[in-house]
Amino acid sequence: MSDTVNLAFHGGAGTVTGSRYLVSVGQRKLLVDAGLFQGLKELRLLNWRGPGFDPGTIDHLLLTHAHIDHSGYIPRLVRDGYAGPVHCTPATLDLATLLLMDSAKIHEEDAAYANKKGFSKHKPALPLYTSEDAQAAIARMHPIPYGTWLDLGVEIKARFLNVGHILGAAMIELHVAGGTGSKETTIVFSGDVGRYGVPLHSDPMAPPACDYLVMESTYGDRRHDPLSLESQLSEPIQKTFDRRGTVLIPSFAVGRAQLVTLILRNLMERGDLPEVLIHIDSPMAVDATRIYSHHLKDESLDDELDDGSDRLFPRQVQFHQTVEQSKALNELPGPRIIISASGMLTAGRVLHHLRRLLPEERNLVLLVGYQAAGTRGRALLDGAKLLKVHGQQVPVRARFHAIHGLSAHADSDELLRWLRSTPTSPRKVFITHGEPEAARALARRIEKETTSDCAEPRLGDEFDLNAL
Ligand SMILES: [Zn+2]
Repeated sequence: MSDTVNLAFHGGAGTVTGSRYLVSVGQRKLLVDAGLFQGLKELRLLNWRGPGFDPGTIDHLLLTHAHIDHSGYIPRLVRDGYAGPVHCTPATLDLATLLLMDSAKIHEEDAAYANKKGFSKHKPALPLYTSEDAQAAIARMHPIPYGTWLDLGVEIKARFLNVGHILGAAMIELHVAGGTGSKETTIVFSGDVGRYGVPLHSDPMAPPACDYLVMESTYGDRRHDPLSLESQLSEPIQKTFDRRGTVLIPSFAVGRAQLVTLILRNLMERGDLPEVLIHIDSPMAVDATRIYSHHLKDESLDDELDDGSDRLFPRQVQFHQTVEQSKALNELPGPRIIISASGMLTAGRVLHHLRRLLPEERNLVLLVGYQAAGTRGRALLDGAKLLKVHGQQVPVRARFHAIHGLSAHADSDELLRWLRSTPTSPRKVFITHGEPEAARALARRIEKETTSDCAEPRLGDEFDLNAL
């Protein structure tokens, strides 16, 4: 008799956040990702409900990449009893250290704010986890390079394979050897699949042959703008430079800020834009850019970046880490480019620049990411004439422009291309990490265009793989 193999979905099911997939082989338990639920309040409350399993019973945790919706629950899991190793690639370890310490700080600040204002039902309000919890989680992380097999105990092994997306990101190939009279089971977890043919990150590798594939579907019902990123960026920026204005780019600090900077460098080196200074004004983006620069040889980054200079952006880029360095920017005239967080103009240093630059017609606010409802970024796109910043109503006279396709996620066509690049079709594809409409649209396409069957698991669903 061989052990049964069970796959349970404790997050990333019916939503794009909270990725947590539990594989049980007999008594042994492996968790793939321990992400935070984010976004709507009803999702965020799930972080407080307990994970749906006893963290103390898990033997190994495998982390696909550093994004908080995949890693942000690990400190809580460790605090609640998880005592095993957290396996990830070396670059993921560096980025996760940055992101988890930042996440802990946000939770601590939120709790302190709730206590000050007295609006929490809990007295005192406590953070989901603290900086000490995050440090304890980071201490459990063990780096392992792409392609190296990890021995996870009796007859179970796994390895990380490059999937593009962000620095260090991986899919996971998991083998469970069959007992007497039964065959081996292979499961591949896609993690987040990156795009093809874009700068900075390399193309995702083909998924290895597998029986079961757990596949993300963030953009399962959408296609990215076919216009190249460089041509989308160059025209509005050139016009701003002609007016001697400043270009303000609110950007996510990890991955996005580095991609935008690299595209700008390419445009300047080719002479398609004049050489002007690019200021990266966000402590997190500065740290993330340094981590990218340390890992230029990483498989998840484009080969062309490794030119021996040991730095990703050797010229024309200035880093602004301290508040004084940030304030110095107020005195500098255009033309220049300021990249600052946050990406949806919700908080952070970018707000100081916004207050200063928005009332002048010659400046440009370049939105390079998704702008959620209720954010200042969305209000700009919706044509607001005034934006409230730091308690002041600021008139919108600067130009603004939205760039599409800078996402680190494959679109619907790219997900199909990735799936088709596997040597044999999986027996079943579990569609995860997407809103229900996106997951359904991708499942329909896969069933129509390939020979694989699909399932769209909901939160808490469990599958006996031997019985499928
Ligand atoms: Zn991701």
